[in-house]
Amino acid sequence: MSSPQVEARVDLGAVAHNTRILCDHAGDAAVMAVVKADGYGHGAVECAQAALAAGARELGVTTIAEGVQLRNAGIAAPILTWLNTTDADFAAAIRAGLEIAVPSVAHLRAVALAAQHIGRQAMVSVKVDTGLNRNGTSETEYPPLLAELSRLVAGEVVHFRAIFSHLARADEPHHPVVNYQRDRFTAAIAQAKDAGLQPELVHLANSAATLTRPDLAFDLVRPGIAVYGLTPVPDIGDFGLRPAMTFRSRVALVKDVPAGGGVSYGHEWIAPHDTVVALVPAGYNDGVLRALGNRFSVWVNGRRYLNRGRICMDQFMIELGPGNDSVSEGDEVVLFGNGTRGEPTAQEWADLLGTIHYEVAGMPRGRTERTFGYTR
Ligand SMILES: *Cc1c(COP(=O)(O)O)cnc(C)c1O
Repeated sequence: MSSPQVEARVDLGAVAHNTRILCDHAGDAAVMAVVKADGYGHGAVECAQAALAAGARELGVTTIAEGVQLRNAGIAAPILTWLNTTDADFAAAIRAGLEIAVPSVAHLRAVALAAQHIGRQAMVSVKVDTGLNRNGTSETEYPPLLAELSRLVAGEVVHFRAIFSHLARADEPHHPVVNYQRDRFTAAIAQAKDAGLQPELVHLANSAATLTRPDLAFDLVRPGIAVYGLTPVPDIGDFGLRPAMTFRSRVALVKDVPAGGGVSYGHEWIAPHDTVVALVPAGYNDGVLRALGNRFSVWVNGRRYLNRGRICMDQFMIELGPGNDSVSEGDEVVLFGNGTRGEPTAQEWADLLGTIHYEVAGMPRGRTERTFGYTR
């Protein structure tokens, strides 16, 4: 069988390696590997299994459906779901044994109703807003939420597990906002204890905080992006992380283009001399964004080659140059990888596109086939 025309190759050995690095940084705190958004585009189930085998103890996802998918794959580890509308299928979450984060009284009541309806206790955690002003209980709603939670815990409708919060500027480890959020977080924990509620654990740190602010590890850390080997703080360092994904294709055709020949739609590039080009069968429908056109390069057989002309839905061209004798049909074309061989990285794409590698990791799509390997 030939290898796929467009492939997102995920090295689960890299996921394991990165998890071990995160466990080292976490110290005594447990590691929750965040596998939301299909494991940041790397495959939630496979990455979850690799991270758990390498020392992660829990998993984090946004939606109930993501958590149920992990359970259906046979994963027994604790799973926290933290972003749901109030009409989400909380009964399914309770049946799957998911820990449910509640950011409001309305969410808590919806979870409690589902628990009563199916006759099973729900496990809930409180997500408090400490300054991100996104998901999480506001300061004003926190006291009524604690009161409602106390009532439901006393009635054994819900089991209270954790208090957690999320940082707004963790990628600037010494920004005063980080300490401000830490202080609000510890105050929120004290407030819960004053209300007679004792969390089993509390947690605050994402990847950036796990790697740069060990003082914020509390009982557990929640790294996402670093599990996949992308540093959350490129200006500070890579901490020995290994990017897990290689996005690649294969040369479909090598051909001559005469001087003056326009290449691809609109003839945006015109060959200034007789040259040789190669056709790569990956296009914007596969996640090679059109905005990269004429601005990016790929790696083939140890060298970089520039894209020439517009990126199309299913394909784009690269220039091999006059007298090419080093690239043939079928050769591997690396779009981005871990950079060790000189290939482009997700960070390089992010810089070209004016975004962050978190977004680039999720770009491979369309006909891209995800495959897995394991490098030690
Ligand atoms: C996405 C997310 C994380 C992980 O963030 P990274 O920056 O990828 O480490 C942790 N906690 C919450 C609540 C999140 O939404």
